Amino acid sequence: MDVEKVFHMTGGIGKTSYAQNSAFQKKASDMVKHITMETIQELYYEVTPKSLGIADLGCSSGPNSLSLIKDMVEAVEGTSHKIFHPMPEFRVYLNDLPTNDFNSVFKSLPDFYKDLKKDRNQEGPAIFIAGYPGSFYGRLFPCNCLHFIYSSYSLHWLSKVPPALYDEHGKSINKGNVYISESSPPSVSQAYYKQFQEDFSLFLKSRSEELVTGGRMVLILLGRIGQDHVDRGNSFFWEILSRSLAISVSQAEIEKEKVDSYEVHFYAASRNELEDEVRREGSFEIDKLEMFEIEREVKNGESYGTAVAMTVRAVQESMLCDHFGDGIDLDTLFNNYGKMIDEEMVKVDIKPLTFVIVLKKL
Ligand code: SAH
Repeated sequence: MDVEKVFHMTGGIGKTSYAQNSAFQKKASDMVKHITMETIQELYYEVTPKSLGIADLGCSSGPNSLSLIKDMVEAVEGTSHKIFHPMPEFRVYLNDLPTNDFNSVFKSLPDFYKDLKKDRNQEGPAIFIAGYPGSFYGRLFPCNCLHFIYSSYSLHWLSKVPPALYDEHGKSINKGNVYISESSPPSVSQAYYKQFQEDFSLFLKSRSEELVTGGRMVLILLGRIGQDHVDRGNSFFWEILSRSLAISVSQAEIEKEKVDSYEVHFYAASRNELEDEVRREGSFEIDKLEMFEIEREVKNGESYGTAVAMTVRAVQESMLCDHFGDGIDLDTLFNNYGKMIDEEMVKVDIKPLTFVIVLKKL
């Protein structure tokens, strides 16, 4: 499957859209917003460029990206006042894969600009926003044009499903599972880890050419706590997807072979794995690397399982439809998914873990 051509969060603003089902991601980025803002202020204070280049990698659709850009502009404005320096102009590059619903982001720009002007007597900062479609696993921007790179909830997505998950006949070596699970042979986690290493180091190398010396990156991504790949954290959410797909097979809605060959292009790295790759690549110094847990929150009486199911659906729908065909009954699949999460939560808590990493370009 060609991730670059297929993968996107569900677009628009409907009930199953990413725009309506990304509160979890918003919550996580809000929890570490102080780190993001401190970092951009520090960078601005050190470099004070006239034209500040900012990129959001994996911006998706929905309100999360622009809401954070607004906070960044205000943070820099605060620092520029403090040091009696004129405000810089802002170049903001919004990146995502080509099938992302950029249009819905662009449609919200007039309100975004209006909002920025509102609090400033109609004199908004000079801000130039552009869409940059393409994979962040490779070069996206001209040399040295960026000062600050932000990426939230995107880097746990690999560039592709690891090819080593399929044998010489094209059959999966991870049958019945969509990610590393208890029953996966060790070659499965090795295949995922190898893909992560390749991807993350290419990401770092590409960004190092685009960032000025002293430039910063704030990366927020899902991860795992220790060496073990199977935990009650992120891998468990994929375990539940495997179980939900197995129910659809037992009800003859989809074929078993199709489920066997479905794997997610996702990887939850550990702290050591992230540090190792940054060191090995060599262009960045680690300023901060913290792990945090997202506080659980549910809206208007909805169960936690339903909220998780809607979140996972908004991020997986494009891939599931491409693999299983439009015939797959996603309502039933994610209904079962939500119920299973609720049942499991009664037994033992499930805690997705997130890393925030701050890197400085050497
Ligand atoms: N940053 C947003 C969106 C997170 S969803 C937020 O915090 O809400 C993850 C996004 O990363 C998706 O829109 C997905 O399309 C994008 N993404 C995944 N792999 C990518 C890649 N290789 N290049 C660019 N974008 C990618």
